[in-house]
Amino acid sequence: KTYIVCLGELLIDFVPEVNGQALADVASFQRAAGGAPANVAAAVAKLGGDARFIGKIGRDPFGDFLVRTLDEVGVQTAVIQTEEAKTGLAFVSLRADGERDFLFFRDPAADMLLRTDEVQAQWLEDAAVYHFGSVSLIAEPCRTATLDAARRAKDFGALVSYDPNVRLALWPSADSARAEILAQLGLADVVKVSEEEIEFLLGVDATTGAQQLLQRGPKVIIITLGPDGCRVVSARQDVVIPGTPVAAVDTTGAGDSFVGGMLFQLASLGVTPANIVYALAEAGVAERVFGFANRVGAITTTRRGAIPALPTLAEVQ
Ligand code: ATP
Repeated sequence: KTYIVCLGELLIDFVPEVNGQALADVASFQRAAGGAPANVAAAVAKLGGDARFIGKIGRDPFGDFLVRTLDEVGVQTAVIQTEEAKTGLAFVSLRADGERDFLFFRDPAADMLLRTDEVQAQWLEDAAVYHFGSVSLIAEPCRTATLDAARRAKDFGALVSYDPNVRLALWPSADSARAEILAQLGLADVVKVSEEEIEFLLGVDATTGAQQLLQRGPKVIIITLGPDGCRVVSARQDVVIPGTPVAAVDTTGAGDSFVGGMLFQLASLGVTPANIVYALAEAGVAERVFGFANRVGAITTTRRGAIPALPTLAEVQ
Protein backbone atom coordinates (compact mmCIF):
# COMPACT_ATOMS: atom_id res chain seq x y z
CA LYS A 1 0.00 0.00 0.00
CA THR A 2 1.45 3.33 -1.03
CA TYR A 3 -1.40 5.81 -1.43
CA ILE A 4 -1.88 8.85 0.74
CA VAL A 5 -5.61 9.43 0.47
CA CYS A 6 -6.96 12.85 1.45
CA LEU A 7 -10.68 13.55 1.73
CA GLY A 8 -12.41 16.88 2.21
CA GLU A 9 -13.03 20.30 0.74
CA LEU A 10 -11.75 21.54 -2.60
CA LEU A 11 -12.67 25.12 -3.39
CA ILE A 12 -11.56 28.36 -4.96
CA ASP A 13 -9.73 30.90 -2.81
CA PHE A 14 -9.86 34.44 -4.11
CA VAL A 15 -6.81 36.20 -2.71
CA PRO A 16 -5.94 39.91 -3.08
CA GLU A 17 -3.28 40.83 -5.58
CA VAL A 18 -1.77 43.02 -2.85
CA ASN A 19 -1.83 42.24 0.89
CA GLY A 20 -2.53 44.62 3.75
CA GLN A 21 -6.15 45.62 3.14
CA ALA A 22 -9.44 44.72 4.79
CA LEU A 23 -11.67 42.64 2.51
CA ALA A 24 -14.01 45.60 2.00
CA ASP A 25 -11.15 47.57 0.45
CA VAL A 26 -9.65 44.95 -1.88
CA ALA A 27 -10.27 45.89 -5.52
CA SER A 28 -8.95 42.84 -7.34
CA PHE A 29 -8.48 39.18 -6.54
CA GLN A 30 -6.55 36.27 -7.95
CA ARG A 31 -8.03 32.76 -8.26
CA ALA A 32 -6.25 29.93 -6.43
CA ALA A 33 -7.07 26.28 -5.74
CA GLY A 34 -7.83 25.83 -2.04
CA GLY A 35 -8.98 23.37 0.58
CA ALA A 36 -6.55 22.01 3.16
CA PRO A 37 -6.88 18.26 2.36
CA ALA A 38 -6.44 19.00 -1.35
CA ASN A 39 -3.30 21.02 -0.56
CA VAL A 40 -1.93 18.07 1.44
CA ALA A 41 -2.55 15.71 -1.50
CA ALA A 42 -0.85 18.19 -3.83
CA ALA A 43 2.16 18.43 -1.50
CA VAL A 44 2.57 14.63 -1.49
CA ALA A 45 2.25 14.40 -5.28
CA LYS A 46 4.73 17.24 -5.85
CA LEU A 47 7.25 15.29 -3.74
CA GLY A 48 6.68 12.28 -5.98
CA GLY A 49 4.41 10.28 -3.67
CA ASP A 50 1.17 8.50 -4.60
CA ALA A 51 -1.62 10.90 -3.64
CA ARG A 52 -5.36 10.64 -4.13
CA PHE A 53 -7.91 13.33 -3.35
CA ILE A 54 -11.55 12.41 -2.67
CA GLY A 55 -14.15 15.16 -2.79
CA LYS A 56 -17.03 16.85 -4.55
CA ILE A 57 -17.14 20.01 -6.63
CA GLY A 58 -19.62 21.71 -8.93
CA ARG A 59 -20.04 20.81 -12.58
CA ASP A 60 -18.92 24.34 -13.42
CA PRO A 61 -15.82 26.10 -14.78
CA PHE A 62 -14.29 26.52 -11.31
CA GLY A 63 -14.70 22.80 -10.68
CA ASP A 64 -12.99 22.10 -14.01
CA PHE A 65 -10.10 24.39 -13.00
CA LEU A 66 -9.68 22.56 -9.68
CA VAL A 67 -9.56 19.10 -11.26
CA ARG A 68 -7.05 20.37 -13.81
CA THR A 69 -4.90 21.91 -11.07
CA LEU A 70 -4.74 18.65 -9.08
CA ASP A 71 -4.14 16.63 -12.27
CA GLU A 72 -1.25 18.87 -13.28
CA VAL A 73 0.54 18.37 -9.97
CA GLY A 74 0.04 14.59 -10.20
CA VAL A 75 -2.77 13.98 -7.69
CA GLN A 76 -5.15 11.17 -8.62
CA THR A 77 -8.57 12.82 -8.52
CA ALA A 78 -11.42 10.74 -7.11
CA VAL A 79 -13.69 13.73 -7.53
CA ILE A 80 -17.43 13.85 -8.12
CA GLN A 81 -18.72 16.79 -10.18
CA THR A 82 -22.31 17.58 -9.31
CA GLU A 83 -25.20 19.73 -10.55
CA GLU A 84 -26.63 19.90 -7.00
CA ALA A 85 -24.53 22.90 -5.96
CA LYS A 86 -21.70 25.07 -7.22
CA THR A 87 -18.01 24.87 -6.34
CA GLY A 88 -17.37 26.69 -3.05
CA LEU A 89 -15.71 30.11 -2.98
CA ALA A 90 -13.72 31.80 -0.23
CA PHE A 91 -12.55 35.42 -0.44
CA VAL A 92 -9.62 35.95 1.91
CA SER A 93 -7.58 39.03 2.76
CA LEU A 94 -4.60 39.59 5.01
CA ARG A 95 -5.12 42.91 6.80
CA ALA A 96 -2.33 45.30 7.75
CA ASP A 97 -2.64 44.14 11.40
CA GLY A 98 -1.90 40.53 10.33
CA GLU A 99 -5.48 39.27 10.84
CA ARG A 100 -7.33 37.52 8.04
CA ASP A 101 -10.77 38.50 6.77
CA PHE A 102 -12.89 35.72 5.25
CA LEU A 103 -16.06 35.77 3.13
CA PHE A 104 -17.45 32.37 2.18
CA PHE A 105 -19.94 31.37 -0.50
CA ARG A 106 -21.11 27.96 0.70
CA ASP A 107 -24.92 27.88 0.94
CA PRO A 108 -24.19 25.05 0.31
CA ALA A 109 -20.98 24.46 -1.61
CA ALA A 110 -20.68 21.24 -3.61
CA ASP A 111 -17.95 19.88 -1.28
CA MET A 112 -20.45 19.81 1.62
CA LEU A 113 -22.70 17.39 -0.30
CA LEU A 114 -20.28 14.43 -0.53
CA ARG A 115 -22.09 11.26 0.54
CA THR A 116 -20.78 7.98 1.97
CA ASP A 117 -22.22 5.96 -0.94
CA GLU A 118 -20.16 8.07 -3.37
CA VAL A 119 -16.85 7.15 -1.68
CA GLN A 120 -15.79 3.97 -3.46
CA ALA A 121 -14.06 1.16 -1.52
CA GLN A 122 -11.35 1.02 -4.20
CA TRP A 123 -10.38 4.59 -3.30
CA LEU A 124 -9.63 3.52 0.29
CA GLU A 125 -8.37 -0.05 0.13
CA ASP A 126 -4.87 0.81 -1.14
CA ALA A 127 -4.38 3.63 1.38
CA ALA A 128 -1.18 3.60 3.44
CA VAL A 129 -2.52 6.80 5.01
CA TYR A 130 -5.99 8.38 5.19
CA HIS A 131 -5.97 12.11 5.97
CA PHE A 132 -8.88 14.40 6.87
CA GLY A 133 -9.57 17.78 8.45
CA SER A 134 -12.42 19.44 10.28
CA VAL A 135 -14.02 21.63 7.59
CA SER A 136 -15.73 18.55 6.16
CA LEU A 137 -17.11 17.78 9.65
CA ILE A 138 -19.18 20.97 9.82
CA ALA A 139 -22.24 19.84 7.84
CA GLU A 140 -23.99 16.67 6.72
CA PRO A 141 -23.85 14.60 4.56
CA CYS A 142 -20.14 15.33 4.16
CA ARG A 143 -19.48 14.85 7.88
CA THR A 144 -20.66 11.25 7.86
CA ALA A 145 -18.86 10.58 4.57
CA THR A 146 -15.58 11.84 6.11
CA LEU A 147 -15.93 9.79 9.30
CA ASP A 148 -17.14 6.62 7.54
CA ALA A 149 -14.23 6.82 5.10
CA ALA A 150 -11.84 7.13 8.06
CA ARG A 151 -13.30 3.98 9.65
CA ARG A 152 -13.25 2.10 6.34
CA ALA A 153 -9.65 3.10 5.60
CA LYS A 154 -8.66 2.10 9.15
CA ASP A 155 -10.30 -1.31 8.59
CA PHE A 156 -8.18 -1.69 5.44
CA GLY A 157 -5.10 -1.06 7.63
CA ALA A 158 -4.41 2.62 6.87
CA LEU A 159 -2.74 5.02 9.27
CA VAL A 160 -5.28 7.78 10.01
CA SER A 161 -4.09 11.40 10.07
CA TYR A 162 -6.19 14.37 11.25
CA ASP A 163 -5.41 18.07 11.00
CA PRO A 164 -8.25 19.93 12.74
CA ASN A 165 -7.19 23.18 11.00
CA VAL A 166 -9.72 25.24 12.93
CA ARG A 167 -11.62 27.71 10.71
CA LEU A 168 -14.04 29.22 13.22
CA ALA A 169 -15.78 31.46 10.66
CA LEU A 170 -17.26 28.34 9.04
CA TRP A 171 -18.82 26.85 12.20
CA PRO A 172 -22.17 27.78 13.73
CA SER A 173 -20.37 28.61 17.00
CA ALA A 174 -17.01 28.21 18.73
CA ASP A 175 -18.57 25.70 21.14
CA SER A 176 -19.85 23.49 18.31
CA ALA A 177 -16.45 23.59 16.62
CA ARG A 178 -14.62 22.62 19.82
CA ALA A 179 -17.03 19.79 20.65
CA GLU A 180 -17.00 18.23 17.18
CA ILE A 181 -13.25 18.57 16.64
CA LEU A 182 -12.52 16.91 19.99
CA ALA A 183 -15.15 14.20 19.43
CA GLN A 184 -13.33 12.87 16.34
CA LEU A 185 -9.81 12.72 17.79
CA GLY A 186 -10.21 9.07 18.70
CA LEU A 187 -10.39 8.08 15.01
CA ALA A 188 -6.89 9.36 14.35
CA ASP A 189 -3.45 7.85 14.88
CA VAL A 190 -1.60 11.11 14.14
CA VAL A 191 -2.96 14.59 14.91
CA LYS A 192 -1.30 17.84 13.84
CA VAL A 193 -2.23 20.99 15.76
CA SER A 194 -0.80 24.44 16.43
CA GLU A 195 -0.27 25.87 19.92
CA GLU A 196 -3.20 28.26 19.31
CA GLU A 197 -5.44 25.31 18.41
CA ILE A 198 -4.53 23.48 21.63
CA GLU A 199 -5.35 26.62 23.61
CA PHE A 200 -8.69 26.96 21.77
CA LEU A 201 -9.64 23.28 22.07
CA LEU A 202 -8.56 22.60 25.65
CA GLY A 203 -7.79 25.95 27.28
CA VAL A 204 -4.36 24.73 28.45
CA ASP A 205 -0.74 25.11 27.35
CA ALA A 206 0.85 22.88 24.71
CA THR A 207 2.59 20.53 27.17
CA THR A 208 -0.56 19.78 29.15
CA GLY A 209 -2.67 19.84 25.98
CA ALA A 210 -0.56 17.28 24.14
CA GLN A 211 -1.00 14.83 27.03
CA GLN A 212 -4.76 15.48 27.13
CA LEU A 213 -4.98 14.91 23.37
CA LEU A 214 -3.09 11.59 23.68
CA GLN A 215 -5.60 10.47 26.30
CA ARG A 216 -8.36 10.82 23.70
CA GLY A 217 -6.83 8.09 21.53
CA PRO A 218 -4.27 9.40 19.00
CA LYS A 219 -0.83 7.81 19.22
CA VAL A 220 1.23 10.83 18.17
CA ILE A 221 0.56 14.58 18.47
CA ILE A 222 2.50 16.96 16.26
CA ILE A 223 2.49 20.60 17.35
CA THR A 224 3.61 23.03 14.63
CA LEU A 225 5.69 25.97 15.86
CA GLY A 226 5.94 28.19 12.76
CA PRO A 227 9.59 29.16 12.10
CA ASP A 228 10.64 27.15 15.17
CA GLY A 229 9.65 23.86 13.53
CA CYS A 230 7.51 21.33 15.40
CA ARG A 231 7.20 19.25 18.52
CA VAL A 232 6.49 15.51 18.46
CA VAL A 233 4.73 14.03 21.47
CA SER A 234 3.82 10.38 22.12
CA ALA A 235 3.91 7.96 25.05
CA ARG A 236 7.59 7.37 24.22
CA GLN A 237 8.90 10.80 23.20
CA ASP A 238 8.56 14.56 23.49
CA VAL A 239 11.03 16.30 21.21
CA VAL A 240 11.28 19.58 19.35
CA ILE A 241 12.55 19.27 15.78
CA PRO A 242 13.96 22.73 14.90
CA GLY A 243 12.70 24.60 11.85
CA THR A 244 14.68 25.59 8.79
CA PRO A 245 15.47 29.34 8.63
CA VAL A 246 14.12 30.96 5.46
CA ALA A 247 12.99 34.40 4.30
CA ALA A 248 9.22 33.80 4.44
CA VAL A 249 7.05 35.82 2.06
CA ASP A 250 3.66 34.06 2.35
CA THR A 251 2.81 31.38 4.91
CA THR A 252 -0.32 30.22 3.03
CA GLY A 253 -0.27 26.45 2.84
CA ALA A 254 2.74 25.97 5.14
CA GLY A 255 0.77 23.80 7.57
CA ASP A 256 -0.69 21.71 4.74
CA SER A 257 2.63 21.22 2.97
CA PHE A 258 4.23 20.31 6.31
CA VAL A 259 1.57 17.60 6.72
CA GLY A 260 2.17 16.43 3.14
CA GLY A 261 5.90 16.12 3.82
CA MET A 262 5.27 14.26 7.09
CA LEU A 263 2.82 11.79 5.49
CA PHE A 264 5.13 11.24 2.51
CA GLN A 265 7.90 10.24 4.93
CA LEU A 266 5.64 8.07 7.12
CA ALA A 267 4.35 6.20 4.04
CA SER A 268 7.84 5.67 2.62
CA LEU A 269 9.01 4.29 5.98
CA GLY A 270 6.06 1.87 5.93
CA VAL A 271 4.79 3.14 9.27
CA THR A 272 1.56 1.49 10.49
CA PRO A 273 -0.88 2.21 13.34
CA ALA A 274 0.70 -0.70 15.21
CA ASN A 275 4.33 0.47 14.96
CA ILE A 276 4.21 4.26 14.67
CA VAL A 277 5.02 5.04 18.30
CA TYR A 278 8.06 2.76 18.32
CA ALA A 279 9.19 3.67 14.80
CA LEU A 280 9.25 7.42 15.56
CA ALA A 281 11.09 6.92 18.85
CA GLU A 282 13.97 5.04 17.17
CA ALA A 283 17.24 6.97 16.94
CA GLY A 284 17.18 9.57 14.18
CA VAL A 285 13.73 8.75 12.81
CA ALA A 286 11.82 11.76 14.19
CA GLU A 287 14.64 14.01 12.95
CA ARG A 288 14.40 12.47 9.49
CA VAL A 289 10.59 12.61 9.20
CA PHE A 290 9.96 15.98 10.82
CA GLY A 291 13.16 17.66 9.67
CA PHE A 292 11.94 16.83 6.17
CA ALA A 293 8.40 18.09 6.89
CA ASN A 294 9.84 21.32 8.37
CA ARG A 295 11.86 21.89 5.19
CA VAL A 296 8.78 21.30 3.02
CA GLY A 297 6.83 23.84 5.12
CA ALA A 298 9.71 26.32 5.11
CA ILE A 299 10.17 26.25 1.33
CA THR A 300 6.42 26.76 0.87
CA THR A 301 6.63 30.04 2.83
CA THR A 302 9.29 31.42 0.47
CA ARG A 303 6.85 31.57 -2.46
CA ARG A 304 3.35 32.95 -2.91
CA GLY A 305 0.20 30.82 -2.88
CA ALA A 306 -0.42 27.28 -1.64
CA ILE A 307 -0.12 24.72 -4.47
CA PRO A 308 2.16 26.88 -6.67
CA ALA A 309 4.56 27.21 -3.72
CA LEU A 310 5.02 23.47 -3.07
CA PRO A 311 8.55 22.05 -3.39
CA THR A 312 9.78 19.00 -5.30
CA LEU A 313 11.75 16.24 -3.56
CA ALA A 314 14.99 17.51 -5.14
CA GLU A 315 14.44 20.99 -3.70
CA VAL A 316 13.80 19.61 -0.20
CA GLN A 317 16.89 17.40 -0.34
P1 ATP B 1 -1.55 26.98 8.90
O1 ATP B 1 -0.90 26.83 7.54
O2 ATP B 1 -2.98 26.60 8.91
O3 ATP B 1 -1.23 28.29 9.57
P2 ATP B 1 0.14 25.81 10.94
O4 ATP B 1 -0.24 26.76 12.01
O5 ATP B 1 0.37 24.40 11.27
O6 ATP B 1 -0.90 25.81 9.75
P3 ATP B 1 2.81 26.88 10.74
O7 ATP B 1 3.19 26.40 12.09
O8 ATP B 1 2.85 28.33 10.46
O9 ATP B 1 1.43 26.33 10.19
O10 ATP B 1 3.77 26.17 9.68
C1 ATP B 1 3.85 24.77 9.51
C2 ATP B 1 5.28 24.38 9.39
O11 ATP B 1 5.88 25.07 8.28
C3 ATP B 1 6.11 24.71 10.60
O12 ATP B 1 6.01 23.68 11.54
C4 ATP B 1 7.49 24.86 9.98
O13 ATP B 1 8.05 23.59 9.76
C5 ATP B 1 7.21 25.48 8.63
N1 ATP B 1 7.24 26.96 8.69
C6 ATP B 1 6.19 27.80 8.81
N2 ATP B 1 6.58 29.10 8.84
C7 ATP B 1 7.92 29.08 8.72
C8 ATP B 1 8.94 30.10 8.66
N3 ATP B 1 8.63 31.40 8.75
N4 ATP B 1 10.22 29.71 8.53
C9 ATP B 1 10.55 28.40 8.45
N5 ATP B 1 9.65 27.40 8.49
C10 ATP B 1 8.35 27.72 8.62
